[in-house]
Amino acid sequence: MNIAGAIEYLSAGLSPVTDEHLTEARLAVSDMAEIPYNRLNKYKASTFPAALMPRLEELVSRRKSGEPLQYILGKWEFMGLPFYTRPCALIPRQDTETLCEEAIALIKRRGYKTCLDLCAGSGCIGISIANICGTEVTLADISEAALSLCRENAEANGVSIRTIKTDMFDEITDKYDIIVCNPPYLTANDMASLQRELTFEPANALYGGVDGLDFYRRIARDYAQRLNDGGALALEVGIHQAEEVAKMLGGARIVKDVCGIERAVIKEW
Ligand code: GLN
Repeated sequence: MNIAGAIEYLSAGLSPVTDEHLTEARLAVSDMAEIPYNRLNKYKASTFPAALMPRLEELVSRRKSGEPLQYILGKWEFMGLPFYTRPCALIPRQDTETLCEEAIALIKRRGYKTCLDLCAGSGCIGISIANICGTEVTLADISEAALSLCRENAEANGVSIRTIKTDMFDEITDKYDIIVCNPPYLTANDMASLQRELTFEPANALYGGVDGLDFYRRIARDYAQRLNDGGALALEVGIHQAEEVAKMLGGARIVKDVCGIERAVIKEW
């Protein structure tokens, strides 16, 4: 079988699972055959190694069980940078690039030197910031497994970061120029009707309390002691949460994502 054939075969296998079957098939074949995604066409007539066929079958069966492609591949891009993915942390999402881009613009405009990424998960936000802006970044998370993933991702991106194991601000003792956070924000109702793929992600990274806003209340209560004068907060929010969160902070700027959903709340002092 050649590369084009492998893509076609996989795409057909994945078509009952997702509308994105062709893209997923191309991503997976690119990964397995170690051909850059944008070169697949050039190598379409090259042989797809027979030894990799069992991996195609395995991928289809794992996707049929609902497991996200990002966990099966074990890596995913965020802000054009490579990140390892594991079920101990949320998959880096395009939605979150909105928050990351806003934070980067703010850091550049205001010359911020230090950043705390709370609920860092895979570390994708803080590590992108460290990579793109050279900011001194601290990644904080309640999960040791997530922090270990953060360290691997920092190394993969050639940045050095600090990690702190903490429940929100509990163990944070320094002050920072900017605090970024993509906290768990799904509601009890959301959790009761999770899309199948989401059940593979850590529930403690998704669930934000009955109304989804528990972590924002803790941020609003505690941020002031951990932010330098003239600092800023940049928070991701779920759909329909932006106004409520902005209100908790005494008013803030709301930014929409590429789908037009209010996705980030930015407060500058
Ligand atoms: N963005 C995720 C979702 O909607 C939730 C992530 C989070 O709670 N921070 O599925």
